[in-house]
Amino acid sequence: MKRRIVFATGNEGKMKEIRMILADLGLEIISMKEAGADVEIVEDGMSFEENAEIKARTVSRILTNDIVLADDSGLEIDYLDKAPGIYSARFAGEDTSYDIKNRIFLDRLEGVPDEERTARFVCAVAAVFPDGTSQTVRETIEGRIAHEISGENGFGYDPIFYVPEYGCTTAEMTTEQKNELSHRGKALRSMKRVLNEKFREAEL
Ligand code: IMP
Repeated sequence: MKRRIVFATGNEGKMKEIRMILADLGLEIISMKEAGADVEIVEDGMSFEENAEIKARTVSRILTNDIVLADDSGLEIDYLDKAPGIYSARFAGEDTSYDIKNRIFLDRLEGVPDEERTARFVCAVAAVFPDGTSQTVRETIEGRIAHEISGENGFGYDPIFYVPEYGCTTAEMTTEQKNELSHRGKALRSMKRVLNEKFREAEL
């Protein structure tokens, strides 16, 4: 098995986080663009897992010798039947600012008591191997929707995602703190365990 990992994302911020978390695998980790696979991906799955696998498979069809990883993530708000879910990026339009998207959710939850404001960030990470097999992991971070926007770090829905154990939103955490407990950090570390297991088997 060729020891190179391609991550199916065009997002440089994500690549930085991924390289940091997977560094101790001792493998070269490059983006799909760096690998020369600048392909359009149609995310038409019905779950985070399906979408992560669709992304990884699309790139794997071009880079058939590489291990291809991809992730899919989003916010689930229980009071809104788990919306926006897999539509987190597309909610209210891809080009609408998160300041507006966040305010829409605060409005929809106006007057809803804390115990009914539960929410989670979900992240699925899929790996497609050169032999065509795949494996997917899923992790979450539990919290609740805040009553107001606060914090300037992070991105997306971070300013309204309140983590009771820390007494702040994920937008008020440092990058290191967030990576430690976030859905994506946890899912990447789970995937690292899957890959290590796979490499151990291959050496037997
Ligand atoms: P994707 O996984 O790149 O498709 O992103 C999905 C969307 O989910 C993002 O555009 C954000 O709207 C939201 N999202 C995922 N993870 C986070 C996070 O850690 N903080 C804030 N928003 C997030």
